[in-house]
Amino acid sequence: MKFLQSTTFYLLFILLISCKSTSQWEGQGPIQIIPTESKEISLQEKRTFDLEKGLYFSNQFDGARLNDAQRINDTLISITILPENEPINPSPWYAFKIWSESPQDFWIKFTYSDKGFHRYYPKISKDGNSYSNVDSTDFYLPIVEEGRPKEAFLKVQSSLDTTWIAAQDLVGTQHVSDWKEGLLGFDFVEKIKIGESTQGRPLEVLKIGNADDQQMLMVISMQHPPEVPGYLAMKAFIEKICENTAVAKKFRSKYNLYLMPQMNPDGVANGHWRHNAGGIDTNRDWVNFNQPETKALSEFMEKKVVETGGKFVFAADFHATWEDIFYINNEELEGYYPGLIRRVIEKSSKRIPGYVPNIRPNEGKERSVTSNSYFFFVQHAESMTFEVGDNTPRDVIQMKGEYLAEELMRILNRKKW
Ligand SMILES: [Zn+2]
Repeated sequence: MKFLQSTTFYLLFILLISCKSTSQWEGQGPIQIIPTESKEISLQEKRTFDLEKGLYFSNQFDGARLNDAQRINDTLISITILPENEPINPSPWYAFKIWSESPQDFWIKFTYSDKGFHRYYPKISKDGNSYSNVDSTDFYLPIVEEGRPKEAFLKVQSSLDTTWIAAQDLVGTQHVSDWKEGLLGFDFVEKIKIGESTQGRPLEVLKIGNADDQQMLMVISMQHPPEVPGYLAMKAFIEKICENTAVAKKFRSKYNLYLMPQMNPDGVANGHWRHNAGGIDTNRDWVNFNQPETKALSEFMEKKVVETGGKFVFAADFHATWEDIFYINNEELEGYYPGLIRRVIEKSSKRIPGYVPNIRPNEGKERSVTSNSYFFFVQHAESMTFEVGDNTPRDVIQMKGEYLAEELMRILNRKKW
């Protein structure tokens, strides 16, 4: 009897474990429709904090976010990170730099007032360009009974050489424009200015390809500033399409891909948690188009279709969230190439051993306020939102971006329109 009991318990245990390991995250709940007229935002004061003993913290660079820094004692500096406005999705972005007149060891306490919790594992850089995760022995995240920890602690060694600390690899507006300049070196890439952001930054689209615009693709990323893993996947995806391979050359002769790699340059430059300079989540503005970014891109696409008589057959919007997930449209509805998105995701995922993609079709059949919905319901493009995990390793992100591009090109190269 005892044996039976323990066997039953053991089987139950195995069952529970296996259920857990095969279950996938269901993703975010239904998207709320919210007003998207511009709201006030609070801009952080750009300054260098003198923290005594020759120690300095600064937010005086593009993409920084550090609202306050105070010395608590000899070895503890408390910093405050606040959102641009509220209500806001809890993705507390931080980025700042540190230096000291002499080498110093101390702890940084991250605080978010009552506005959020600690989410992003800190990255460190010695040159402001290449970032890596901080050593796990230097980082302490308190265990809390409910919810997520409101504060976190990081041990740092400062010196005269500047150290950058950021929530994700810092991909600022300059970084993106340098990358775009690199792509413009190809004779099949062209830059098109489609508008200006609230703070006067150029809104730009790259045209990639030398086709006749009868079948077009749209790719966007960084509507939400901290979602750097999504940007990195998009970058890998696009670089594959620009390669000098037979498959890519054929693809570019049949299709033009339009790319807006940084949908929210004001938000990125100001280190926003999520919104643009109008204080709005642009991914809730694809019905009303109250914001310059969504308005410019939708008008660009609509004009393109009218002028060329062509169509957008595919669209992708790259984001980042807790773990990798693909949001796709309701599969009972049809765009210009039914089944394309699932085929591309499944074929590319099969190439990564053991990887089962988390694909979440929309249960609703109505148009909503997101880019994914606009691309599908208005443009009839087969479309997806790829959310890359906050902590997905960079080499895996690279692989996923590249494989998606390769399988997409292979399928579309064979398609007769
Ligand atoms: Zn997002």
